[in-house]
Amino acid sequence: MAFRSIFESATAPVVSFELFPPKTPAGLRTLYRHVERLMAFRPGFVTCTYGAGGSTQEKTLEIVAQVRQRWQVPVAAHLTCVGANRQALADFLADADAQRIDAIVALRGDPPQGSTTFETVPGGLSHANELVELIRTDFPRFGVAVAGYPEKHVEAPSMEVDLEHLKRKVDAGADIVITQLFYDNSDFLRFRDACRRIGIGVPIVPGLLPIASFSQIQRITSLCGAKLPQSLVERLQQAKTEADQASVGTEHAIAQVEGLLDADVPGIHFYVLNRSEAASQILRCVEIPTAE
Ligand code: FAD
Repeated sequence: MAFRSIFESATAPVVSFELFPPKTPAGLRTLYRHVERLMAFRPGFVTCTYGAGGSTQEKTLEIVAQVRQRWQVPVAAHLTCVGANRQALADFLADADAQRIDAIVALRGDPPQGSTTFETVPGGLSHANELVELIRTDFPRFGVAVAGYPEKHVEAPSMEVDLEHLKRKVDAGADIVITQLFYDNSDFLRFRDACRRIGIGVPIVPGLLPIASFSQIQRITSLCGAKLPQSLVERLQQAKTEADQASVGTEHAIAQVEGLLDADVPGIHFYVLNRSEAASQILRCVEIPTAE
């Protein structure tokens, strides 16, 4: 029940960081160097994503196990239903359990590239709420986080329908919701209000991705459906170099964090993309109190 105890006992907003499995040993060494720096901000937990396929999937558990062992911080492994039947999912969860991983970020995963529909494999699961149920039934020790979408999931026909599906995940036993990245806090606040109205009572943690460059963020937002406010787009266009664009991105993220803290969020989840510079700059600037 890692997430419950973390958020229930927190005396300040909980900072968390999301990593992804690098493809090379050099990438892994760089990752741990940056994790070392991020530990100065005493995160409440660290997560690592789960790839759509291939060797990086095995790396997810390896990375969270390492982070837990080296820095004694609670960790969560992401897990998706892509290409896995119930047995394969249970095998991953048993492995995570054996390695004393604290929690799972339970996801359906994206449709394969070039397709707009998710393929359920024979004997597999179709939606994240089923994965939450599987975890709660067979691996009740784990904390469980699920994904929420302040601007609606790209496949959902409406916000209302998407929220009903989010509620299913919470009713199935999710402890917290971590959101998709967003750049306009009013989208998050509207989403949070709508969640509360339909009875989603668990902590809703905003996910933030500080912008590193205009081209990078255009690519990412076109995939996940998040929008960039026009004023931010204009400032990014005016910035001549990537370093200037990153400064605009950091400034925007600082303003977002300040606004979110004012709105009493339970924590901030940083998509750090395996780097420490932007998150460190932001956290030093806003002086977020560290959760004990
Ligand atoms: P679901 O909750 O299953 O929702 C998917 C769609 O189906 C939505 O449109 C929803 O409205 C609808 N729906 C949900 N439940 C039902 C139901 N019971 N019946 C009918 N319709 C339903 N992807 C990765 O590949 N690896 C990762 O590690 C990863 N980490 C992520 C972390 C976070 C915090 C976030 C926000 C996203 C992450 N993603 C990751 C992306 C995620 O896999 C995609 O957004 C995916 O398209 C949806 O996953 P989900 O868990 O939200 O799916």
